[in-house]
Amino acid sequence: MSRASESLALGPPFAAGGKLAPYWWDRVPRLAPADVEIPPHVDVAIVGSGYTGLHAALQTARGGRRTIVFDAEDLGFGCSTRNGGQISTSVKPGYEILARRYGASKAFDIIKEGQRSLEWIGEFVRTERIDCDFAVVGRFHAAHNPAQFEHLVKKVRHQQPGLEVDARIVPRSEQRDEIGSDAYFGGVVYAQHGSLDPARYHEGLLRRARDAHVELVARCPVSAIIKDGARFRVMTSRGTTSARNVVVATDGYTGSLSPWLQRRVIPIGSYVIATEPMQETRVTKLIPRNRIVSDTRKVVFYYRTSPDRRRILFGGRVCVDETDPAVSGPLLHADLVKIFPELAEVRISHSWCGFVAYTFDELMHVGRHEGIHYATGYCGSGVGMGSYLGMRVGQQVLERDEGRTAFDSLPFETRPLYRGRPWFLAPSIRYYRWRDRLPI
Ligand SMILES: Cc1cc2nc3c(=O)[nH]c(=O)nc-3n(C[C@H](O)[C@H](O)[C@H](O)COP(=O)(O)OP(=O)(O)OC[C@H]3O[C@@H](n4cnc5c(N)ncnc54)[C@H](O)[C@@H]3O)c2cc1C
Repeated sequence: MSRASESLALGPPFAAGGKLAPYWWDRVPRLAPADVEIPPHVDVAIVGSGYTGLHAALQTARGGRRTIVFDAEDLGFGCSTRNGGQISTSVKPGYEILARRYGASKAFDIIKEGQRSLEWIGEFVRTERIDCDFAVVGRFHAAHNPAQFEHLVKKVRHQQPGLEVDARIVPRSEQRDEIGSDAYFGGVVYAQHGSLDPARYHEGLLRRARDAHVELVARCPVSAIIKDGARFRVMTSRGTTSARNVVVATDGYTGSLSPWLQRRVIPIGSYVIATEPMQETRVTKLIPRNRIVSDTRKVVFYYRTSPDRRRILFGGRVCVDETDPAVSGPLLHADLVKIFPELAEVRISHSWCGFVAYTFDELMHVGRHEGIHYATGYCGSGVGMGSYLGMRVGQQVLERDEGRTAFDSLPFETRPLYRGRPWFLAPSIRYYRWRDRLPI
């Protein structure tokens, strides 16, 4: 999809002038790429200009290292300006699963690191004064069947000592305080979760990076990274630079530039729509406390209001194979209407998608392979965690002790025959859809 907002002749449920581009791109003016010359030598070269790349760059530039960031497309083209703007503790597997895999102490540290990432992003946005509609609104995590409600209740009542979070059970009888829908069977409010405008946040990061003298090069794919003594030759479409350190921050857009990573991340499309603007009172009836919302399905729906509280932004996975936002838009609209039947006549103004990076163990990974740093695999929860691990990887480049994380020494798995094309995705999604329909 091109970075410029596309406006095609789309039929209902699209509004007239509906766009196949992120709603967020309307709110943040697009930057014309600057004509940057590639210097022959830098200290740090970073591939990818999303949250991971920019946070790493902020650390290294502020630490006195000449830092350059390359993006194959416009700056922030990847998930970092397309996402739902929901912020959580980001670690998907629960304590018990992690304890079985890595032992109790490591499990504790991993979950704690997720909690730290959530606290840290709030502090970062406040300290750096990034104007991006950041707010701790809380999440309503809705049970899609009675068994899942019981499961949530058990989880909240038996939290691991030392890892407790502020979580309040909402029975179905009180659900309408949280959501104007009877489609669920109760849920839990996680009070500390937050939201922001992802593109405004990204724009704020770009400003801070520029202030720190990071060189930012758009529309300049890196085609090879070659070890050259103690340094790396970083070859791009516009020339080559020699870097002491390299960080690959390409996440769901990881390609053949880094085959080792490509074998370890699974790119999965996530799809979102924005409705046309409505009366604020109407939106308030649907999401009265302005929470972010998600559900207990394995093939999850996630949604929220727009920062001006005039629209609903609704995301999920609607097809087993990847598809076009022109196709996913009407399908997501149909799912939205199942939750809020009164939106049947409300049209879609925007439909878009992006590629998140999943991993085989559902955990994010940070580390070094053949001397090249990376942080990746946020499994759809990279607003807080991508920012946090980007910051940590920057500190690792600076060889600072505080750069260590609980994820550093984890094995990063691949599977036989997997080379970056997830042939197993369609059958897996079919299976999870089937499971989501069972009363378990
Ligand atoms: C639709 C959608 C909704 C989401 N919702 C949420 C949410 O609500 N909450 C949440 O926490 N997370 C969410 N996510 C995930 C989150 O947005 C990502 O995890 C996060 O933005 C990843 O940031 P990143 O910097 O690592 O990668 P990205 O922002 O994806 O950036 C990677 C960049 O690398 C560039 N690149 C790739 N190869 C090269 C190369 N060879 N040379 C130069 N550049 C290259 C790409 O052009 C791209 O710009 C969502 C994602 C999507 C797609």
